[in-house]
Amino acid sequence: MQPVPADEPLPGVWWLHGTRGSNVFLVTLPGGGVALVDTGFAESARAILAALEAIGRPLEGILLTHRHRDHTGAAAAIARATGAPVIAGAGDCRLRDGRPLLRSGVGRTHPVRLVAGLLGRRPEPVPVAIAVDCEMDVLPGMRAIPVPGHTPGSLCFIADHLAAAFVGDLVISHRGDLTRCLAWANHDDARYLQSIAEFADLAPPAGFPGHGEPLLTGFDVALRALAALPPPSPHPPHRPRTCCPPHAFRRSLRRPPVTDSGKEVVKQLRPTPNCPLPLRR
Ligand SMILES: [Zn+2]
Repeated sequence: MQPVPADEPLPGVWWLHGTRGSNVFLVTLPGGGVALVDTGFAESARAILAALEAIGRPLEGILLTHRHRDHTGAAAAIARATGAPVIAGAGDCRLRDGRPLLRSGVGRTHPVRLVAGLLGRRPEPVPVAIAVDCEMDVLPGMRAIPVPGHTPGSLCFIADHLAAAFVGDLVISHRGDLTRCLAWANHDDARYLQSIAEFADLAPPAGFPGHGEPLLTGFDVALRALAALPPPSPHPPHRPRTCCPPHAFRRSLRRPPVTDSGKEVVKQLRPTPNCPLPLRR
């Protein structure tokens, strides 16, 4: 087998190199195939296809944690190249001729990103084979759990055979610590906080967020601790978390492929001195 351009932080889970936007994972399924969790921006398609070829297992499904383009940009290309079905939250889809299509979304994590997304090329429509609106098995070994709030159709996926969860932007991992998304980056912040609390009761020990490093142990404990924190104050007395100022965003657009250690991802999320924006956890 040729080397897979990815880390394998947990046996059966590959964290792909060379993708941009979000973390992208390939997960082995009990039947011998693999599932793709998120795709990154459109330019990540090549790296994903290279990893699939190196692994040599059939792609059984493309699981999207939510509709934001940094997580779904390559979904149409991968679906076309592999024929794998796309699975996404019903709340992130619209109907065309009675069939669900993924709603395009750029997210609200930073105004620069919002403007760049709105001015950029319209993404290819992504036909969705399974639009999830309740907890359900979507592939052998893979369960989808709706966690609305960040977007209406946000999902987490649990691989019971690996005791691992793939959680998209439900939380962000920052050097082994879990943090919440900024309130104004969420579609419905109150529902988002409720989803964290609900998912904390189901979470397995290993967690793979869409940004930052995976937590291979203690993800469930960390998530319950995060859920137990009081709702954020609009005027926090200190600023324990990072944000995405314009210069960091520009750097993220040019981010080189993730290395073996995934250090670039972490560097991108490090606290920035003199950050003007209050952050919460
Ligand atoms: Zn997002």
